[in-house]
Amino acid sequence: MSVDANLDHEPTAAIPDPALVILVGASGSGKSTWAAQHYLPREIVSSDQLRAVVGSGEHDLDASDDAFSLLDQIVAARTGRRLTTVVDTLGLSASRRLGYLALARRARIPAVAVLFHTDPAVCRQRNRSRQRSVPAAVLDEQLHRVQEAADQLASEGWDAVVRAAAGQALEPAHSPGSRSAALLQRDRPTGLGFVLQVSRFGWGEDPAAWLKSIALAATQAGFTGIALMDHLIQIPQVGRAWEPIPEPWVTLGLLAGLDTNLRLGTLVSPVTFRAPGVLAKTAATLDALSGGRAFCGLGAGWWDREHAAFGLPFPPPAKRLRLLEIEIEMLRALWHTGTRPYRSDRVSLPETTCYPRPAGQLPVIVGGSGDRTLDVAARLADGCNLPSDLETFDARLAVLRGHCARAGRDPAEVAVTVLDVPVIGRDREHTATLVESMRGRISAAAFARRHHAGVAADHVGRYRLLAERGVSTVFVSLPDLAEPDDLARLTPIVSSFAA
Ligand code: GDP
Ligand code: MG
Repeated sequence: MSVDANLDHEPTAAIPDPALVILVGASGSGKSTWAAQHYLPREIVSSDQLRAVVGSGEHDLDASDDAFSLLDQIVAARTGRRLTTVVDTLGLSASRRLGYLALARRARIPAVAVLFHTDPAVCRQRNRSRQRSVPAAVLDEQLHRVQEAADQLASEGWDAVVRAAAGQALEPAHSPGSRSAALLQRDRPTGLGFVLQVSRFGWGEDPAAWLKSIALAATQAGFTGIALMDHLIQIPQVGRAWEPIPEPWVTLGLLAGLDTNLRLGTLVSPVTFRAPGVLAKTAATLDALSGGRAFCGLGAGWWDREHAAFGLPFPPPAKRLRLLEIEIEMLRALWHTGTRPYRSDRVSLPETTCYPRPAGQLPVIVGGSGDRTLDVAARLADGCNLPSDLETFDARLAVLRGHCARAGRDPAEVAVTVLDVPVIGRDREHTATLVESMRGRISAAAFARRHHAGVAADHVGRYRLLAERGVSTVFVSLPDLAEPDDLARLTPIVSSFAA
């Protein structure tokens, strides 16, 4: 079956972004117009425009060789950086097409051909009305070769061959399927909880006022909770070492006093910071003061520097994981009703007298994605926090479920959550601007992928895909959170999952 016949009967698939996109169509078939409607000027490389750059004008055929060698250089450079590149040429040379395809393969970005099957009569009409038209015989030859190319494209190995359509959807390449998932979420919504993770504290002169306004804005945006990072020095992934990073449990105490229903906890408290019994006391107190809204995120810790700086031991990973097991067991023992002694092969307490008791079931969420951490989560935790990147998520979830099976634990007893740090733009261009302003020394493509850069609908689709995989809560951390108003960007996303 020819590509053409296929595309006639199916809705056009979304084009992955970033991608190398080659246009295939005769003169006047609408290639340049379509490209301008879907992509930024700097993403489009046009042989006509380059003829005008190195020759006397767009129609200076004597400048074609120079124009194409420049074009090839630009396509190679952009593709090598995994930047979206639209090749606006006739696209009729199979050998050129295969050359572009090879570039995309090498750079490991999707390669897409867009076919312009415009009615020949329309092409001829448009050609005639152009100031400098292509000779009629040349256009006829092009139209004939487009037919040929349409058949060849199917076997050339493109990731997608799509028929040009107005309003063609682009889909972030990091989240295949997110486009249709977003539509499904619109038509048949599924519920998903959102907790704001605050990791940067640009609070200026009045820390308490800033924190309160963030909490109120989070409530308005539809978040059901706030999670705080637990670090002694601001981590390099987030900011500079001299930027404030408050003690989270004290800070959660302040937030507990506000008139909100937000759930409050850490994501995550390293087991190395506090003696387990003291953390049991702290979290139980927060739960009592907040009417049962506390949760306790725990992890094995990873940053040696903050331990050294604060005079804390930082034992090797195996020991920290063992401490994590002990900590969870002690928390549960001390939070349990009664004051009886507690004894197991790991923990021995002469009594479990811890008042106030937590007001409710105080969930323990283990964060981290190492195999052994997931093993601890599978056996002992109420929830497990995984990375949000779909590919990584799938792999880690499989490991978690495997540990559950081996431990004889019902996987439904371990809630699955993710931490997501999204770049949310108003439109495609704004998204690119945000990426460029935040990326630091990381390449734009890598930063965009790491932060799932996209517009609101892209994130809705992605969260829907996570919900379908069993995620119950997304912890969202805005990489550019500065003021409460920034959270409004999340309102349309969060509200599309309101049960
Ligand atoms: P190209 O030679 O394939 O790049 O074609 P262009 O994009 O330059 O389009 C040729 C002419 O057709 C221009 O005058 C466009 O304004 C017009 N054109 C292109 N696409 C459309 C379309 O979808 N609808 C209409 N009405 N005109 C179009
Ligand atoms: Mg053109």
